[in-house]
Amino acid sequence: MDYKHKLNQVQQRISNACDRSGRNVDDVKLIAVTKYSSIEETKLMIEAGCLHVAENKMQDAIPKIDQLSHLHAMWHYIGHLQTNKVKHLLPSFQFLHSLDRLSLAKEICRKYPNDRISCFIQVNISKEETKSGIEPEKLIEFINQLKDYSSIDVCGLMTMAPKVKHPEETRTIFRRLREWKDEIQLRTYLGENCRYLSMGMSEDFEIAIEEGATHIRLGSVLTK
Ligand SMILES: *Cc1c(COP(=O)(O)O)cnc(C)c1O
Repeated sequence: MDYKHKLNQVQQRISNACDRSGRNVDDVKLIAVTKYSSIEETKLMIEAGCLHVAENKMQDAIPKIDQLSHLHAMWHYIGHLQTNKVKHLLPSFQFLHSLDRLSLAKEICRKYPNDRISCFIQVNISKEETKSGIEPEKLIEFINQLKDYSSIDVCGLMTMAPKVKHPEETRTIFRRLREWKDEIQLRTYLGENCRYLSMGMSEDFEIAIEEGATHIRLGSVLTK
């Protein structure tokens, strides 16, 4: 697999989406999702220039991170995180994209009282039963409850759009996440610390960029 070539193609698409929406490419971070990739493939991908990498299962992630630590990539945890796996989060991961409940925040604080981990709050904008994430209506209350959780550094919001026939149908989902970010900036103690939007995957990242994504999580478009 020629990861450099794939990466170039994707970067061109990111750049075009930024041009269309008057955004700076430096404000959109590409995170390579390596959940479909072996350790060797992940290594090649990082070497091709993907310095931000994401995994959604702890048991797959830890051996990769251990064996590739010399490459100094930044690792993002994007899957549902079971409370009993919190012990593996640090020091392996620099970002958690799936903070979706208070009990998880509590366990992170219990395990890492002297650290601060950058977290995105996962929001279930599309309200699909099968997706995790805080319901939008409960978001402000959830954030206010997080105030006393000193190990949690909320840096933004994350969402997953539903699978749709036409990517364009995801636009309102992404737009609503951005509107919630603006609302949180105005109405909660987080203010402008809540600054990132982790949204957009292989099928819909260009639309997510047009709607303000700062972090896009790309798997299959890079690895398949
Ligand atoms: C798998 C996964 C992705 C990447 O999906 P692709 O469609 O392969 O780009 C992004 N985010 C999360 C949370 C995932 O689980």
